[in-house]
Amino acid sequence: MQYYGKIKNAVQEANRVLVGLGEEWVLTDEVICKAMENSHPVFAALLKFAATQEQYRDIVPYLEAFYYNQITEIPDMWKNAYAHLRKLLEGKDYYIVSLTIDPYLAQMGFDMDRCVNPCGSVQRMQCRNGCTEELYIAKSIMQAFSEKLQQRMQDVSETELQECVLTDLVNDCREEIAKLICPKCGAPLFFNTLEATRYREEGYLGNWQMYMKWLQGSVNKKLCVIEAGAGMSLPSVIRWPFEKTVYYNQKASLYRIHHTFHQINHEIAERSCGIEASAVSFFKDMEEGEAVL
Ligand SMILES: [Zn+2]
Repeated sequence: MQYYGKIKNAVQEANRVLVGLGEEWVLTDEVICKAMENSHPVFAALLKFAATQEQYRDIVPYLEAFYYNQITEIPDMWKNAYAHLRKLLEGKDYYIVSLTIDPYLAQMGFDMDRCVNPCGSVQRMQCRNGCTEELYIAKSIMQAFSEKLQQRMQDVSETELQECVLTDLVNDCREEIAKLICPKCGAPLFFNTLEATRYREEGYLGNWQMYMKWLQGSVNKKLCVIEAGAGMSLPSVIRWPFEKTVYYNQKASLYRIHHTFHQINHEIAERSCGIEASAVSFFKDMEEGEAVL
């Protein structure tokens, strides 16, 4: 695809590269189930069971956290996409704003002082009521939960995954989840993500300040902006501020990759390029030696 060469050139020529990873990078439960089908069939069945039934939805975030913090296998499409993005940014002065809450940026070797996840992280937990700014490391807080789940899943064989077995597993999970409580007020602990009732933003604000400083320092520099898969669910985090940045910095260029919302405002059209593609699969297919435009 001609765009690869174009983007690679733009990155190479830029002083700085700003990257936004939007909703398209957030794994759905379906993607996780599909990826785990062969290597962790019992877990895949359990997640599918909980995710598709209203009365069990409450345990889904804990299962997702178990997946990210314990299983730690990245689906191939994402692994390749991140690897190519990292290669693209190698040696560059970059900053990444991502709507993801998974640990993949760190796992894939990005410099975490150059990344910010404003939607939070499944690696941290907080008081659901936000009574304290204290954040806890999910992996250690959930250790008993994880051990029990692992043990119970080992006891179950793939062939006996009937509803009653899965219901038992769900109930075991709930029993362990009930033990995860805030040491200060006794309210349940939840993940330090936007989904928390009272989201404690301390988890990302330090990096956000670094990002703001970096952005201020990018004024009048040749800035390449890559907006990948950011739709309309949280446009004030990536889409709108990125457009504004490109609008005010005459030396900036924008590459907007999205499967539906790839359109560009006419004010910045001359310095922008809209690419109609799913961002993750676009980066997955970005290989060495692609045709240059
Ligand atoms: Zn509390």
